Amino acid sequence: MATTRKVVIIGSGPAGFTAAIYAARANLAPLMFTGFQWGGQLMLTTLVENYPGFVDGIDGPPLMEHLKSQAKRFGAEMVGDDVTEVDLGRRPFRVTAGDTTVEALTVIIATGASAKLIGLASEAKLMGRGVSTCATCDGFFFKDQNIMVVGGGDSAMEEALYLSRLGRQVQVVHRRDALRASKIMQERALKNPKIEFIWDTAVDEVLDPDKGKVTSVRLKNLKSGVVWETPVDGLFVAIGHLPNTAIFKGQVDLHPNDYIKVLPGTTQTSAPGVFAAGDVADFTYRQAVTAAGTGCMAALEAERYLEAQYSGA
Ligand code: NAP
Repeated sequence: MATTRKVVIIGSGPAGFTAAIYAARANLAPLMFTGFQWGGQLMLTTLVENYPGFVDGIDGPPLMEHLKSQAKRFGAEMVGDDVTEVDLGRRPFRVTAGDTTVEALTVIIATGASAKLIGLASEAKLMGRGVSTCATCDGFFFKDQNIMVVGGGDSAMEEALYLSRLGRQVQVVHRRDALRASKIMQERALKNPKIEFIWDTAVDEVLDPDKGKVTSVRLKNLKSGVVWETPVDGLFVAIGHLPNTAIFKGQVDLHPNDYIKVLPGTTQTSAPGVFAAGDVADFTYRQAVTAAGTGCMAALEAERYLEAQYSGA
């Protein structure tokens, strides 16, 4: 086994790269497992206008390229493999990606969360081209246009309410005839004159992949089987997120919804020396800038932990 690393970072969204920048600049020679699909959720979006520092906004993928280059510039080492297993119950920790296992004195988990998708090929093709999973990121592009939101939970209500301030109208498509959202969110959405509900209905197809943008949506009433098409400019899928925590189950404490538990106001997990940053530990804010902020916190906390536990390490 190779030498023990001071800091191993798992994941490569804004949290992972920010942790790498801080750890590298602190001379901790971080090793990052970026994963095959590096870059996180911003790789699925187009213009990002709310990340501070970019007056005219910046597309998600180049923003992530910038973060990657910045982390590389300070010497962060990157491996493009997916981590398949971790052992956080022993010291040093072990992190395994396929055939490679490394030892680590601290681990920063920044594996993010993935938005649940409907699962249509057309949805995937038009992601970032009219299909979005984030109203605060992309809602602005649909000012005075026809917006559709899929889902019946708090996220869908929150997205619909946010989008109602921007769009001409917002249609919420839900697969049942009752909402899962909390009473207060339901009431707000139901009494909003700009929001219309389409019940017992699923999205059957997103059109038009050939045009490279969303022009309409084909809907199917799940009770009557009736299929129809309605013009839509922006389709927001808000059917929940899944934190990428499968490999950490039983290794650090998780919330009942599978997000990693951290000590409030810190990135410290239940395993001393293991820190969690970004969406993997955040089901409230879920913003690139908050992820970057907690990535910074995780690196600083890792540095302090190393000083306290392994002075001279
Ligand atoms: P959620 O509560 O799991 O709701 C997901 C919704 O999407 C449900 O209505 C579900 O339908 C629907 N859905 C799931 N899979 C679907 C599919 N394949 N096709 C069509 N519809 C599908 O998720 P969430 O709304 O993201 O909320 C997650 C948690 O965060 C909740 O605890 C929520 O309270 C919390 N949250 C709170 C706030 C707030 O308080 N402001 C905001 C956002 C989230 P069914 O109802 O038929 O299952």
